[in-house]
Amino acid sequence: MNELKIFCPATIANISCGFDVLGVALDSVGDEMVIRKVGEKGIRIIKLEGQDLPMETEKNVAGVAGLALMADSGYNGGFEIEIYKKIKAGSGIGSSAASSAGAVWAMNELLGKPFSKLELVKFAMEGERLASGVAHADNVAPALLGGFTLVRSYDPLDVITIPAPKALYATVIHPQIEVKTSDSRKILKTNITMETGIKQWGNLGGLVAGLFKEDYDLIGRSLVDHIVEPIRSILIPGFDEVKQAVIDAGALGSGISGSGPSIFAFSKGISNAQAVAKAMEGVYNTIGIDYEIHVSKVNVDGVKKVP
Ligand code: ADP
Repeated sequence: MNELKIFCPATIANISCGFDVLGVALDSVGDEMVIRKVGEKGIRIIKLEGQDLPMETEKNVAGVAGLALMADSGYNGGFEIEIYKKIKAGSGIGSSAASSAGAVWAMNELLGKPFSKLELVKFAMEGERLASGVAHADNVAPALLGGFTLVRSYDPLDVITIPAPKALYATVIHPQIEVKTSDSRKILKTNITMETGIKQWGNLGGLVAGLFKEDYDLIGRSLVDHIVEPIRSILIPGFDEVKQAVIDAGALGSGISGSGPSIFAFSKGISNAQAVAKAMEGVYNTIGIDYEIHVSKVNVDGVKKVP
């Protein structure tokens, strides 16, 4: 086998009370890539469709993550990469992570799986370092491992997979406005009070327990963010209206996807998730902002081979 065609899932990171530690992979939205093993040394991105992004190996996250893997692999040949982007960069649903994760997953398969999935997370994080300046794992971990993931620690890297309840669906709306990741980082406070901390880790524990127990009400009660959402949501027009509309439509809860501007909601069952999509659309139709919207079940596999 010298060539693989893969699906690279979009991901929701942060997930309300899980700022910087929780993420989940999606099923119905993601990029495609083709990775080919070639004799010529190094990595070349030979095709990039769907988005205007750099094709130079060192400037594209797929190239950078791939080089990190190759440096540790002892492999003397090279790879060609084709990227078919469906996820918009800067949308808040892990555009760069999909490419970083996809590249290292496929290369590992083509080399006969020398690395564990945790090692792949480390290589993919180098792509994230290029995209945002920080080698974070909260999008690449679910993209590689599937389902929900918790990054418990970076030193040493410890990633825990959390099962997804079978009827859990995500609705994600991407209002077509630009929020710079640097701005959404800058406005965050660097300190929190003990009182706020207690509320936040109560909810994070509740959310993780709810996912394990398939307790949808507990998941909904726990989808509360006392730290980041009150500040970041100011950058997203219509955020409060969307939050109210999705609850009225029966969603379990909602929050900012990644650093925004996408907003996610979780629902029990696909028909509820579709009703939630209608409610979200109604808000942005009224305000007059264009959007893209996705309804997806949780992707329990992560990056996967496609025919
Ligand atoms: P988000 O997670 O908000 O969807 P990202 O954090 O993925 O967005 O940011 C995308 C950044 O990464 C952009 O600056 C983009 O130019 C850069 N980038 C480099 N290579 C890629 C790639 N293959 N796919 C997506 N973004 C890439």
